Amino acid sequence: MLRRMPGRARRRSAQRRQRRRRGLVAGALALVAEVGVLWMRAGRLAGEVVVRCRSGHVYTTIWIPGISVKSLRLGWWRVQRCPVGEHWSLVTPVRESELSDGDRRLAREHRDMRIP
Ligand SMILES: [Zn+2]
Repeated sequence: MLRRMPGRARRRSAQRRQRRRRGLVAGALALVAEVGVLWMRAGRLAGEVVVRCRSGHVYTTIWIPGISVKSLRLGWWRVQRCPVGEHWSLVTPVRESELSDGDRRLAREHRDMRIP
């Protein structure tokens, strides 16, 4: 069956396969990068992490690399609603050990929706 395919068509379908594989690799790399950054910044792979918004508010959110329904993902930045200032903002994960006591208390008191 393959032998009867004209050479051009065969090349084209091989190219298509290669492109699809490249897309998968890019997606996997992006996911690995996100997990890596989350690990470095928050010290965990997924779950509840403390994030800081652009206005300096800290709160706890659920962060699962590759999955989000309440935020716009931009690598290790996300745009989501900040429950402290009640505004939309870019947030990044922060290490809890780097927070001041006051910030840590704030982060514990403020949690957003229980969905990723
Ligand atoms: Zn905020």
